[in-house]
Amino acid sequence: MRTIAVINQKGGVGKTTTSVNLAAALAEMGQRVLLIDLDPQAHASLHLGLTLEEGDPSIYDVLTGEATLGEVRRRVHETLWVVPSHIDLAAAEIELAGEVGREVILRDKLQEEGEFDVIVLDCPPSLGILTLNALTTVEEVLLPIQPHFLALHGVAKLLRTIDVVAQRLNPRLRLSGVLFCMYDSGTRLAAEVVRDVEEFLAEQATSNPVWSQAHAYRTRIRRNIRLAEAPSFGQSIFEYAPSSNGAVDYQQFAAEFARPTSSKRRRRLPAAG
Ligand code: ADP
Ligand code: MG
Repeated sequence: MRTIAVINQKGGVGKTTTSVNLAAALAEMGQRVLLIDLDPQAHASLHLGLTLEEGDPSIYDVLTGEATLGEVRRRVHETLWVVPSHIDLAAAEIELAGEVGREVILRDKLQEEGEFDVIVLDCPPSLGILTLNALTTVEEVLLPIQPHFLALHGVAKLLRTIDVVAQRLNPRLRLSGVLFCMYDSGTRLAAEVVRDVEEFLAEQATSNPVWSQAHAYRTRIRRNIRLAEAPSFGQSIFEYAPSSNGAVDYQQFAAEFARPTSSKRRRRLPAAG
């Protein structure tokens, strides 16, 4: 089973779009996928057409109460299940403040769920208790980056957080890769940011095993209006616009992500300097 958290404490970089469409693409490939929405904004849930009625259980009840993931998850496709979020989750940060072991609640609850090939966690734009729960639960972190000025701002802090969690709570945790989202091909800025990120990763590679395998995915998600429209129809890009560039890009990314030998075939990044 692969477990992956989509994390960047910056908002609007493509975390939710990537979580939803990666999960949907892998499900279309026949994998059994569980998508867990860890953002109180519940955008991933809405993106897949889930709006909760008063009293419906959500990830909030899993993290702060007795509910199991099995009780909360909904099937949205033949092999795709979603654990929806709710705005109540915004209070979890405070409610869990005094709780012993609050960083590992999700990890423990997930132990009852054995029947998936892939679990994808869509994280909120912060490094608080919800993201910490994601980091203690998964083996891989996927970092979406929007190639613009300041793209790397905050990444060092995220790497430090991943390192601390790996050392203290989850030794299997690794940063697996960077995905460029909203990529404007042909612009000089995009090309420059890609080069900066690749250099940055190459520099980091020697310093710590937690991110020594990290690489930039070859697939880049181009800016595509269909990707921005799909959420309001409650559909993945594959349902909403299956022949759009957005669908093509996410399908290609899912194939790259799923390739079992990708770590061996990864392009070696040039040494920095
Ligand atoms: P995050 O979860 O990191 O906050 P989102 O995935 O919600 O980011 O993306 C932010 C906004 O940009 C959303 O309105 C989304 O629909 C839009 N968007 C994401 N990826 C693309 C893309 N490749 N092309 C065009 N719009 C995109
Ligand atoms: Mg989001």
